[in-house]
Amino acid sequence: MKMKLAEIAKAINAQNNIDQWQDVELTSVSFDSRHLDRGALFVPLQGAQDGHRFVASAFANGAGASLWASDHEIVDHDHPLLVVDDPLKALQQLSQYYLHKINPMVVAVTGSNGKTTTKDMIASILSTQLNVTKTHANFNNEIGVPVTLLNMEANTEAVVVEMGMDRFGQLDFLSKLASPDVAVITMIGEAHIEFFGTRDRIADAKMEITHGLKEDGTLVYNGDEPLLNERAAEIDQRLVRFGRHLDDDLYATSVEEQPRSLTFTVNEWPDLQFTIPMVGEYNVNNALAAMAVGRLFHITPDRIKQALASVELTENRAEWVTGENGEQILSDVYNSNPTAAKQVLKTVAEMPVEGRRIAVLGDMLELGEASARLHASLAAQIDPDKIQEVYLVGEQMAALKTRLTEDGYPAAAIHYYQADQLDQLSEDLQAILTASDIVLLKASHGIHLEKVLDAIEKK
Ligand code: ATP
Ligand code: MG
Repeated sequence: MKMKLAEIAKAINAQNNIDQWQDVELTSVSFDSRHLDRGALFVPLQGAQDGHRFVASAFANGAGASLWASDHEIVDHDHPLLVVDDPLKALQQLSQYYLHKINPMVVAVTGSNGKTTTKDMIASILSTQLNVTKTHANFNNEIGVPVTLLNMEANTEAVVVEMGMDRFGQLDFLSKLASPDVAVITMIGEAHIEFFGTRDRIADAKMEITHGLKEDGTLVYNGDEPLLNERAAEIDQRLVRFGRHLDDDLYATSVEEQPRSLTFTVNEWPDLQFTIPMVGEYNVNNALAAMAVGRLFHITPDRIKQALASVELTENRAEWVTGENGEQILSDVYNSNPTAAKQVLKTVAEMPVEGRRIAVLGDMLELGEASARLHASLAAQIDPDKIQEVYLVGEQMAALKTRLTEDGYPAAAIHYYQADQLDQLSEDLQAILTASDIVLLKASHGIHLEKVLDAIEKK
């Protein structure tokens, strides 16, 4: 962003007199007084501590101005402060003002899983023809979305905004803030079911992303999800469905999993074969969602193909690394849920291997009452002929241990650890792995399997 203080003050109705500073130019926003660019607007938020305590340090580090809540006494008269009722609301208001000023096309992405991946794919596709800004990393909440908008360069033609939610009303708010031209719902899963209770209620909450969708906008959604079909039928905007069924507008056929990539064809462009450089069949759906958006923006299929083949993902997703003993490790340690864990187990089970296929699985967090059942359900994808050893980590995985035993999986091949025994787990793995093995590491980030990865990975 690039705005003068006077313009910002007006946009957020700052109440005080900033006459002497009105020409000060601000170029970014920041909440972290230790890391900010010269000329940043500091936003004191209420976190574990009151952000106002760090305003002085923000100025010392080069901030150009700071927001200031009106219920705090002003102690600094030497720097520009913009006094507002609530700095967070002011940040949101400013981002909306700036969005209207730059006026790009807005693509909003939500869903239980696959938001970040799909966001990155969409940005990659649209970038072949447009100036694109996308959500940085996973900044997808009521702070992250405004920051994404304020990060736009003045020449931005399309902004791809990830929107997360863990309660009702959140997507309603974010969608109305950004007024998307295109809203995308990747899928309805079980994330946050602890809070919502049923998938029906999760679907209701996800549909809030259409509350701010422009009248001539489009909802792109997973057409294989009946809960979404039901609800989408009730809105007036245009609908585009993607998925794996023949009645979807965009559907994939001939999906093939290679060791490190996926290939598939799409009904719309039967002569082209698409490749994405990642594993996990669910990523085909993420790609289809992104292709549907690309098609809405009239990106040519050749460009879509190229963009997908070279997509750069924001964070560490599932990736292959080599272990110290030469084993091939499929590391997916930042996120796990029943749908994705089953898919990746299936992928691994089908991979050619000389030695053993070994699954290291940690708890899938936030599954609420259904947790034990959902953990146990992974047993269906663990066939002792295909996955010869399992290492289970965390309290919830006890349910999978029990189910595997009931199903007749050899007891000697089941190894169980508490979440605080990662060192032991790493040592045990190190002792048994050989260059002919394949190892899967998959867990919610809270389990910290990245520590195991770090211990067994070849440096
Ligand atoms: P978060 O809620 O943490 O922001 P996200 O929705 O952004 O997650 P991604 O970061 O794209 O999701 O993917 C996280 C994990 O979710 C992946 O590593 C994979 O395990 C799983 N996943 C991704 N896409 C899908 C999908 N379409 N269906 C099911 N699982 C998926
Ligand atoms: Mg994300």
